[in-house]
Amino acid sequence: MTTGFEVRNPGTGDLAGEYPVHTAADVQAAVARARGAAAWWGGLTFAERAERLAKFRGVMARRTQQLAGLMHNEMGKPHSDAALEVALSLDHIAWAAKNAPKVLGRRRAGVGMLTANQRATVEYKPLGVIGVIGPWNYPVFTPLGSIVYALAAGNAVVFKPSEFTPGTGAWLVDAFNQVVPEHPVVQLVTGDGSTGAALCRSAVDKIAFTGSTATAAKVMAACAERLTPLVAECGGKDAFIVDEDADLDAAADAAVWAGMANAGQSCIGTERLYVHAAVYDEFLAKLLAVAGEQRAGSDPDAKIGPITMPSQLEVIRSHIGDALARGGRAVLGGLNAITGQVVQPTVLVDVPEDSVAVTEETFGPTLTVTRVRDRDEAVALANATGYGLGAVVYSARHGNEIADRLRCGMVAVNGVFNYPQIPSLPFGGVGKSGFGRIHGPDGLREFCYAQSVARQRFSGPLALTTFGRTAKSDALVGKIMTLLHGRH
Ligand code: NDP
Repeated sequence: MTTGFEVRNPGTGDLAGEYPVHTAADVQAAVARARGAAAWWGGLTFAERAERLAKFRGVMARRTQQLAGLMHNEMGKPHSDAALEVALSLDHIAWAAKNAPKVLGRRRAGVGMLTANQRATVEYKPLGVIGVIGPWNYPVFTPLGSIVYALAAGNAVVFKPSEFTPGTGAWLVDAFNQVVPEHPVVQLVTGDGSTGAALCRSAVDKIAFTGSTATAAKVMAACAERLTPLVAECGGKDAFIVDEDADLDAAADAAVWAGMANAGQSCIGTERLYVHAAVYDEFLAKLLAVAGEQRAGSDPDAKIGPITMPSQLEVIRSHIGDALARGGRAVLGGLNAITGQVVQPTVLVDVPEDSVAVTEETFGPTLTVTRVRDRDEAVALANATGYGLGAVVYSARHGNEIADRLRCGMVAVNGVFNYPQIPSLPFGGVGKSGFGRIHGPDGLREFCYAQSVARQRFSGPLALTTFGRTAKSDALVGKIMTLLHGRH
C-alpha cells in the first residue's frame, strides 16, 4: 500500500504539503507508461518537440512568481532568489530545443584512403526513458538541466524530486503535461530514498542523478545491477582564489554571494578561499564588511534563508567546531551563529587544511579564508581535494592561466555562478564531484546513443572484407599502410 509523507516549511515549520511514497511497483508502472510515451515523443521531429518545449517555457515564464512561492515555501530560499532560479532555467530550455537538431541530427563523418568508397554518417538517437533524481537546493534549475536536455533529445522522463521539494517537482511536471497532454512524456514519482532506489532498479535507460557523493555511490551500485548508465552530478568543495592583482572589492562581494547565497547550499558554492599574502589583510577586511551586512532568517527581508535539511545543521556545527578546536578562529559568526534552523554568516581563518571544514562539503553559509604565498600555493591547495566541481579565480592578469591549472569541471574568472547561466557550456565535475555532463552539446548527447552508419557506395579497388581477398591485395594494403604510417 502506498503511504504518504509531509513536507514542512523550514522557516516556519508549517505544513507545506503531503505526498505519496511511491513504491517500487508504482515506479515500474510509471516507467512502463513512459516507454509508450517515449516512442511517440521520440517519433516527433526536432521542430515539433521544440514547439512544445517553447510552450512549456512560456508557462514557466508567465507563472514564475507562483513557482517561486512554492520553492520558498518548501525549501526556504528567499522568494527573489527563487524567481531568479526560474528565470535562469528558461534560457536552457530555449537553447536545448534550438540546438538539438544541429548537435544530434545525422551528419557526415570523414573517411580514409582505404574507405573512400564509403559514405559515413553518425546520428545521436534518444536512449528512451530517463530517470531523473533531483536535489532540493535548486529544485527547478538542477533537475531541468537534465529533464529538458533529455526531452529535447527525444526521451521520456520519470522524475523523482527530493522529498524536501516534491511540490516544486509536481508543479514542473503538471506544467509540462498541460502543454503536452497527449502522452505521459514526463511523469512524477514522489517519496524518499527508497523511491529513488526503485527508479535506479527499474527498466529506465539511464539515470540522471544530482545529489551528494555518498548517495551517488548507492545509485551507481543499484544501476550496476542492470548495467543502467548514469550521469552523476555530485557535491563539491569549491575553492576561490584571490590573486595579488585582483579587484578586491569585486572579489569580496562575489565571495560572499558564492559562499552564502542560498544559505551556502549550492553545489558550486564557494567553501574555501585562498588569498595571496600581499592582499590578504585588505581582502579579509572587505570580505568581513560585506558578509557582516548579511542576515539569515525566515522573514521576507532576510537575504539568506534557513537551512533546508534539519540534519545538515549538525554537519555545519561539526565543521565549525572542528575548525575552532584545531586552532582556527571565527572572525565572523561561529558556533553561536546557529539558532534553530538558521545559520548566520560565518568566516573562519587559520583553519588547518586537514580540518573537515576544509576537506568536506559543509553546505552552510560558512567560508574558510587561508593566506597563500603565491599563485602556485593557491593552485596546489585548491587542487588538494577529492572533489572537482567548480572554482572561482579573481585575478587581473592571470585568470585564465590559473584556471588552466585547476582540476575541476568549471571555472568562473572574475565572476561567480556565471558558467551555469551559459547554456552552451557543459556542467559537471571530476573525482568525487561525479561524471558526465548536463547543459551544452555534451548535455544533449548524454541522453543519447551514437549510431554510426557506413554505406558502401561502390566496390573499392581493394576488396578487403571477403574470403576472396588475394595475396596481391594484402601486399598492396601493406604498401599503402607503410607509406601512410611507416615514416613516424
Ligand atoms: P541527496 O544525495 O541526499 O539526495 C539526492 C536525491 O537522491 C534525492 O532525490 C534523494 O531522495 C535521492 N536518494 C536518496 N537516497 C537514494 C537512493 N538510495 N537511491 C536513489 N536515490 C536516492 O542530496 P541532497 O538532496 O541533499 O542534495 C544536496 C547535494 O546535492 C549536495 O551534495 C550538493 O552539492 C549536490 N548537488 C550537486 C549539483 C551538481 O550539479 N553537481 C547541483 C545541486 C546539488 P530523498 O530526498 O527523498 O531522500
